[in-house]
Amino acid sequence: MQIGQRIGTPLAPSATRVMLLGAGELGKEVIIALQRLGVETIAVDRYPNAPGHQVAHRSHVIDMTDPVALAELVRSERPHLILPEIEAIATEALADIEAAGVAEVIPTARATQLTMNREGIRRLASETLGLPTSEYAFAQSYDDFKAAIARIGYPCVVKPVMSSSGKGQSVLKSDADIDAAWQHATAGARVNMGRVIVEGFVRFDYEITLLTVRAVDPATGSIETYFCEPIGHVQAGGDYVESWQPHPMPDLALERSREIARKVTGALGGRGVFGVELFVRGDDVWFSEVSPRPHDTGLVTLHSQRLSEFELHARAVLGLPVDTSLAAPGASAVIYGGLDEAGVAFEGVREALAVPAADVRLFGKPESFKKRRMGVAVATGADIDEARTRAKAAAAAVRPVSGR
Ligand code: AMP
Repeated sequence: MQIGQRIGTPLAPSATRVMLLGAGELGKEVIIALQRLGVETIAVDRYPNAPGHQVAHRSHVIDMTDPVALAELVRSERPHLILPEIEAIATEALADIEAAGVAEVIPTARATQLTMNREGIRRLASETLGLPTSEYAFAQSYDDFKAAIARIGYPCVVKPVMSSSGKGQSVLKSDADIDAAWQHATAGARVNMGRVIVEGFVRFDYEITLLTVRAVDPATGSIETYFCEPIGHVQAGGDYVESWQPHPMPDLALERSREIARKVTGALGGRGVFGVELFVRGDDVWFSEVSPRPHDTGLVTLHSQRLSEFELHARAVLGLPVDTSLAAPGASAVIYGGLDEAGVAFEGVREALAVPAADVRLFGKPESFKKRRMGVAVATGADIDEARTRAKAAAAAVRPVSGR
């Protein structure tokens, strides 16, 4: 397929086929954006009726950590592009698929391998690229763990290397916290039980996500790096609760943030949206993490930008031009499940949509948990304060109720 030159007809031999590995709320929006451009979409997740399954041309349920199942599915569906939406994927199978020229992995198979493991990306950022990060040390055993803490000092943060979104993570203030933190980290790890990163606690003023897009510049035909306005966010237990854009910051800190983002995304390579997470204090900036795909805090861009991060991703991966401009100051607020039940219902959407300049997305997840993200409210305003007030009011108006 000539990326950027031609888009075929879905379900016809000329179709441009894109497979999403992971079909949650972020994948669902990417699929909708791709569908609007006439792309044939294939959604894959580990459970049936995932949000993205509900909007794709075809859907599959497989264990994406199984390299054989993954390779087989790719062989039968013959996608041109593969977009990993989650980290728990057999990335070695993706590397084989890419090396054999079967399909293109977005942004690259190597990027998915490096970022699925905190160790890979941290060593790349700090040791290869020389970017500022928190102090860190890795540990594999309880004794190593104690030695790592002694080196880093208190307070420190411990995280399983194979984890995301705060899972298995804790902040240690003294020796009294060591045992519980070790238990929590080794129980919360996805795979590779036991290996953890100990990070020095960064006393930041605020943290941002800098959505960074590597896309083809139509003027030159080569890949350029584009930046969205910085997104501020609030985290609770490692999960995002609220985000807003643009987060105000000094020129120097913004310039440093962009430099870090340019370097880390340049080293990962490929095309697409990256969510670069940074800590900021005054003019100082620390690299924290990067997702080689749209970021959950970027849900705000559904309303705040001319093109959402999902539309930007769709365009960038297809080799099409992007526009990262802000439309209006905006905010997002998460709608949680509130109850543990399959097939819940939502009340109060009418009230939510009566909030000025607000909108709501309900993801359609088949099963609700108290703390599961089931939807999001977004809003714009004259400034981020007004947008935040509106987004929170709209989210609060939506009430999950039993569907029985
Ligand atoms: P992560 O899963 O690494 O994105 O961490 C989740 C959240 O924990 C971050 O968004 C920060 O709010 C906080 N956090 C993680 N690492 C550190 C650190 N080294 N210092 C201070 N806060 C941190």
